[in-house]
Amino acid sequence: MKIFKTRRELQQFALELKRSGKTVGFVPTMGYLHAGHMSLIDIAREKADVVIVSIFVNPTQFGPTEDLDRYPRDFERDLAMCTEHKVDVIFAPEPGEMYNADSSTWVEEKKLSGPLCGASRPCFYRGVTTVVSKLFNLVMPDFAVFGWKDAQQLLVIKRMVRDLDFPVEIIGAPLVRDTDGLALSSRNRYLSDDERTRALAIHRNLLAVREKVEADGASVLESALARARKGIEESGGRIDYVTALDVDTMEEPVSGTKALLVAAAVFYGTTRLIDNEVVELK
Ligand code: AMP
Repeated sequence: MKIFKTRRELQQFALELKRSGKTVGFVPTMGYLHAGHMSLIDIAREKADVVIVSIFVNPTQFGPTEDLDRYPRDFERDLAMCTEHKVDVIFAPEPGEMYNADSSTWVEEKKLSGPLCGASRPCFYRGVTTVVSKLFNLVMPDFAVFGWKDAQQLLVIKRMVRDLDFPVEIIGAPLVRDTDGLALSSRNRYLSDDERTRALAIHRNLLAVREKVEADGASVLESALARARKGIEESGGRIDYVTALDVDTMEEPVSGTKALLVAAAVFYGTTRLIDNEVVELK
């Protein structure tokens, strides 16, 4: 497994891969890897000649009061997991390597990134789309795999790729959960045992919304969401949002809506967790 620390080395290598006609699959991450990340890597491994994983805690997607400095990091463990899953290349730049000191260019998606996490974290998606654009230009992958765990992010990236004509196929990978239902996340590391147990309420309540809407149709959506908010609050969660949007438009559902993104962002203590369920409407 090769490890590149600089943009120049990575881009040089990627250009050679392109010239040799190899298929490149790319999985961008912020490290502190877990089975969710590995599922993305396994999808890339199945389809590509060469699998490239980036590990970079991207400062431009964190707000000034967010957890950039304490975001969990364990590079040695990440390397061991990537070796086990047959990754070919890791790109792990230092923070100062990724951006030019006087960088003044941003990539911004202005529609799908508006609600949900975009509303509570105003700079977040601008940071994500900018760093992913840069990574695509460095790696030049044939395809990149993103998880449905971050559903809105996946939709924003797909839109960006469509609108800016990136020659990259975006593959969405299913959300991976722990055996008790908690969505796997590097941030779960912050939770105390008690908070972790309480946080199971997120999935339990989103699932209840899904089951209710699947059984009784979209007319019961608002009452099901209200019940879910109550259940999550009773577990001690402080709700950022628990809501449902049309998964294609990221707008309020309408009569023609085909599928809902039922999504939640909830704080337990100081840890903000996100989760979602996609509900097909008949
Ligand atoms: P992160 O390191 O949290 O930025 O995540 C990197 C990629 O892994 C993103 O595409 C995430 O959506 C994906 N990912 C993180 N957790 C999960 C999970 N539990 N299931 C599926 N994909 C995930």
